[in-house]
Amino acid sequence: MARRGWRSYSVMFMLTVAACEAQVPVPPITWEGEHIAFGTDVVDVTPCGAHPRYEDEFFGMTAQALGEELPDELIEYYWLTPEWYTRTYCPSESQGCFNVRDGQVYTLFIPHQHELVHGVAYQLGVNSQAFLDEGLADLFDNLDPSRRIPKTEVSIHDGLSYAGDGRDFPPEFYGRAGHFMRFLLDEFGADAVMEVMRAVEHGESLADISTDFSRVLGFTLEEVDAMYRAYPECSSDVYRVPLMECASPPMERNQDVWYFYSMLYCDDADVIGPSYNGRVYTTRTFDVEAESEEYLIRVVGIFDSTKSVTIGRCEGGCESGYLKRYRADTQENIHLRPGRHHVTLYRDAAETMTFGVEIYPPGT
Ligand SMILES: [Zn+2]
Repeated sequence: MARRGWRSYSVMFMLTVAACEAQVPVPPITWEGEHIAFGTDVVDVTPCGAHPRYEDEFFGMTAQALGEELPDELIEYYWLTPEWYTRTYCPSESQGCFNVRDGQVYTLFIPHQHELVHGVAYQLGVNSQAFLDEGLADLFDNLDPSRRIPKTEVSIHDGLSYAGDGRDFPPEFYGRAGHFMRFLLDEFGADAVMEVMRAVEHGESLADISTDFSRVLGFTLEEVDAMYRAYPECSSDVYRVPLMECASPPMERNQDVWYFYSMLYCDDADVIGPSYNGRVYTTRTFDVEAESEEYLIRVVGIFDSTKSVTIGRCEGGCESGYLKRYRADTQENIHLRPGRHHVTLYRDAAETMTFGVEIYPPGT
């Protein structure tokens, strides 16, 4: 008994030391919105016009999409130079991380939606098992930086039995985590997603998780897994929720055609970035009324390898969503389904040149 008492004391002592660790040094806060307090030490790169209002709106909209009410508190969001970033404890190969202890986001690019989602979960008091936590962050991540393809060799059993925290989360689990969250969202809805997040804690056994699933979803883990396996596979291009891309009112047609051109001036209020790899982008929506394979897409303007266009469906997930990517001089007929779509123009931060996309409905 004495030994056990001593051991407990030792563990408590270590925890106390951890709790007294010096705070991560951060630059001063220079902007406050409804949800975000922003600070940066970046001086040689200009943030584009949408920032930091874009991040603030994204934060609120993510909570709203999850059917949740945020507390009246600000999350600290820091855009850092690589030099300052090394002074945080974020893993050296990472581009951003969330400090759960102090409730702070650190990032090397803006906007960093993945880390902001961790901030949303934090503000909502949700600290779930890492596979669910990372899955939620991945679900609302930027379209840029990366396309994640769920690994076939990674099962939800693998992900749900991972007992560590987000810092050491295996990279090969991300796509499966985000895809599984999209399945939960489509199959059970946002309220159930949040109930599962709140029910499943770090270090729970698969048996306990199965009990949680039965209580919240009405199905055991094995039953949920069987349903999940019937859900189509798709990449993060399609399983992610394009919240911000789909938020603006739809473009009007001009003589039946949707025209969308931009110089992508970083200063413009609708231009976002510089994001991952220095890309900047701007986005619009348009509403498709009739399903057809005869929509003509023309990508126009002077192009180089740094410019690209994406067109995606706002709804549908892996069941009926899609994302199409285009580069220079594209002219082709594509199949569009009814519903709202988003169209995004990207360029490298160092370039400016008007370019755009024209979308011709059938018969025009
Ligand atoms: Zn994460």
